[in-house]
Amino acid sequence: MSAPAVALDALEAALRMAGRGWHVFPVERGGKRPAIRAAHSGQGVRCTGACGGDGHGLHDATTDERRIRAWWQAYPGANVGVSCGPSGLVVVDVDTGKGRRPERVLVDQGDDATPGDVTDGAGVLAWLARRHGTAADLETFAVTTPTGGRHLYYAAPAGEGITSGAGVAGGLGWQVDVRAGGGYVVGPWSTRPEGLYVPTAGVPVRPLPGWLLERLSIAGRVPSRTPPADVTRAPAPVDLGARATAYLRAAVAGEIQRVLDVGEGGRNVALNRAAFALGQLVAGHGLDEAAAAEALTDAAQIVGLPAAEAKTTIRSGLSAGRRSPRGITP
Ligand SMILES: [Zn+2]
Repeated sequence: MSAPAVALDALEAALRMAGRGWHVFPVERGGKRPAIRAAHSGQGVRCTGACGGDGHGLHDATTDERRIRAWWQAYPGANVGVSCGPSGLVVVDVDTGKGRRPERVLVDQGDDATPGDVTDGAGVLAWLARRHGTAADLETFAVTTPTGGRHLYYAAPAGEGITSGAGVAGGLGWQVDVRAGGGYVVGPWSTRPEGLYVPTAGVPVRPLPGWLLERLSIAGRVPSRTPPADVTRAPAPVDLGARATAYLRAAVAGEIQRVLDVGEGGRNVALNRAAFALGQLVAGHGLDEAAAAEALTDAAQIVGLPAAEAKTTIRSGLSAGRRSPRGITP
């Protein structure tokens, strides 16, 4: 083991983070919950700070030096909570594989078996990257948590309003949570009974990579500015070419129908699954990719997905599917 890291004084750590524009608030000493008692506990009041007082959890977070000094005077040694949304951060929270691995570790895994080496959050993230045809470019400012997890800090893309989510259904996958709008992390140099939150030295916060933004979109963490669904329209006929077999035609029609059948919440996931399946048929069965993309785009428009979001999902799903070709067994 290397020499133990020397902790920064909690106030000093909070002020440094505020100095870089991160919105901070005190978290209980040695713990993860807000230090300040809830302002309206048990009063049935919905308030995120309009009352002017403290005690609204991450909504208290600020960059104001005077408030920060006063807080850490009142709560000496408090850990530092970083409210991700106003700080412009998306933090990918990669956990160690506690507990039993579920059958599916990704929301759009389909029938794919989880590789045997995927045993924790880091493995899930690496597999996810491979499925997107990229290396897991995780070189960014990171914090190792006292229990062996990692918080990867990324700069949020402007104007996307990314929200927090956890696990397979809401986050990036099993053991990979997302802390963004509405979420906070316990920041660097905070302490727990198990040890310190240790930051990586010398690595800046990098912009969120495009493939992770795509994933967050698939997980529904990127709110879509959605036109109303045009469910009254039937899908436009798509020319698959004279050589397309009946099986191929049926397979394409089936995938498109699955997109059309899904409710508003699952549209992007369904589109991604269909694109992946059709990508497999492009590689394994000679399906015309342009025709597949056209059919998927048409279905996406019918269910009301924004064009840019649909285009990204289709491209990424087709290319992931192409990398695991599948024929059709008659
Ligand atoms: Zn209040």
